[in-house]
Amino acid sequence: MYRPKLIVFFQLKRFNTLLIIMVVAFFMISLKATTQSDLKDYKIKKVVIDAGHGGKDSGALGKSSKEKDIVLAIALKLGAYIENNIKDVEVIYTRKTDTFIELYQRGDIANKAKADLFISIHANSFPQNRRVAGTETYVMGLHTDERNFEVAKKENSVITFEEDYSSHYEGFDPNSAESYIIFSLMQNAFLEQSADFASIVQKQFRIKAKRKDRGVRQAGFVVLWRTTMPSVLIETGYISNPTEEAYLKSKTGQEYLASAIYRAFKEYKTQIESKSHFTHTATKPGTFFKIQIASSKLRIPLDSPAFKNYKDVVEIKSKGRYKYAVGNMVSYDDILKFNRIVRKDFKDAFIIAVKDGEIIPVSEALKNNN
Ligand SMILES: [Zn+2]
Repeated sequence: MYRPKLIVFFQLKRFNTLLIIMVVAFFMISLKATTQSDLKDYKIKKVVIDAGHGGKDSGALGKSSKEKDIVLAIALKLGAYIENNIKDVEVIYTRKTDTFIELYQRGDIANKAKADLFISIHANSFPQNRRVAGTETYVMGLHTDERNFEVAKKENSVITFEEDYSSHYEGFDPNSAESYIIFSLMQNAFLEQSADFASIVQKQFRIKAKRKDRGVRQAGFVVLWRTTMPSVLIETGYISNPTEEAYLKSKTGQEYLASAIYRAFKEYKTQIESKSHFTHTATKPGTFFKIQIASSKLRIPLDSPAFKNYKDVVEIKSKGRYKYAVGNMVSYDDILKFNRIVRKDFKDAFIIAVKDGEIIPVSEALKNNN
């Protein structure tokens, strides 16, 4: 009785696509398992700087400049600042010349190098309104508004320059809204760190380069999809805005932008590494460390079989999603140990800090506490 119905159901093309996407997504989740391990004695040793586009792919076009040239200049300047000033960090470039590199290769370069941070540099364009200007830094995830979605679609569309792109991205179609569902299923273990770095980048743009700060945003960028380290995509400004284009293509503008990202890198590195030297306790009143084990757009009942080994699961609503966390500790070292245990059940579990029922950056919880 059931059979014919089931066949009909599975023949629905949309459902099939969704099913494939979900299988792929769960596969991706398991790939992302080796992460954020011990922060103890953790040092940032390698950074990958990814100048977007290149070669036959010009990226966005301004009146008199191309995104690929602007972002390469900024990337090389950023790399030089790091190489000249922070001797213990190795800089790896995805490209140093005007060459075409496929999106999946960019992430592969970072993964193979076991890099600690991935920085993809781009310039934005919004010809519909040439007054729009400012910088945005993106972390991986599902877009929450249409503008962010448009930016991701535009950046992802470059895979159509690639030969045989469908085989490299498991059938991902940069223009199909359905394809982006995978990004909502990802529980990215590096999200907190990526977002920490992204907000420092935006702060430096605002303070040091005096750019308009359009904030940290989230969207599904293919180039960030499979990187196994904290990763951001920086939109350094709008090439479609005449004033901003002039700034982006000027040597001074490029130096300011590169130097702002460099300062952000230095600040992030210090912040991450200082966490690893002391016995850390969240000294701020009302702050606890927990282990996030799940994140979902839909509510999951606390007595769900998925949580059966844990009695103290709590639900925290954050950024339009339901997060589920276990444990409640003030010592960072204790929560690190507990995380190793939880990871046996939830491979992507990671540490979060919660203050008065709200998730705050772990770095924030550890501040002023050395
Ligand atoms: Zn771009």
